[in-house]
Amino acid sequence: MNEEIAELTLLQAIDHQIDGIDSEIQEEQNALDGKSSDLTDRENTIAELSSKIEVIEQERRTLEAEVADEMVHVKERQAKMMQVQTGREQTALLKEIEDGKKSVKEKEEKTVAIMEEVEQLTSEIEENKNLFKGETELLQEETAKVKKAITAINKRKKTQENKRTKQAKALKAPLLRKYDKLRKHRNGLGVVNVLDGVCQGCFMAIPPQQYNLLLRGDKLFDCPTCQRIMYHEAPAEETKK
Ligand SMILES: [Zn+2]
Repeated sequence: MNEEIAELTLLQAIDHQIDGIDSEIQEEQNALDGKSSDLTDRENTIAELSSKIEVIEQERRTLEAEVADEMVHVKERQAKMMQVQTGREQTALLKEIEDGKKSVKEKEEKTVAIMEEVEQLTSEIEENKNLFKGETELLQEETAKVKKAITAINKRKKTQENKRTKQAKALKAPLLRKYDKLRKHRNGLGVVNVLDGVCQGCFMAIPPQQYNLLLRGDKLFDCPTCQRIMYHEAPAEETKK
């Protein structure tokens, strides 16, 4: 294999290690972010339950005020019963009193139902608050753990980065620049193998004449389709197929 290609593939192997380390860090961070957003969901649930209580408590207060008014009205009608003379007036008053009492009863039942609902919601809030407390503690522990894990991963990354700096020196500056640029724009892959005349970066066939030159292995070529730097190396298992 061409000397430059050998150095380039070594460099790319190190770069892939570093990429892998970066995604390890990202995974750790994502897991933590997921838990932290679960906690936010829990907080939102508590807030929703609380505002539901507020709404129905307001409804209860309105009902209670109406009941008080209606009771006064019923009492007034009852007092008036003593004064009326005709049967027709009596019947009308009695109906008003009955209607009033019925309405009071219905509203009192609604009030009781609301109080039961408030009780239910309050215990749900309590439950969620307890869970929130436990989850917060867990998250704190988890955060500390992840921080430690990331520190350890970063140490490995530093080692690889030092290796990378050393390896990069083995390459001429223009070639290194070209490789770095390709890696940046071509999904982390700057130098690629060509198998059976097909670029393993973009999976497009290269012209047969260029492939023949590549097989000789003494010159660098760019893939005509993706521009990645090409080399040829037949993997042991592949050739047996
Ligand atoms: Zn290609």
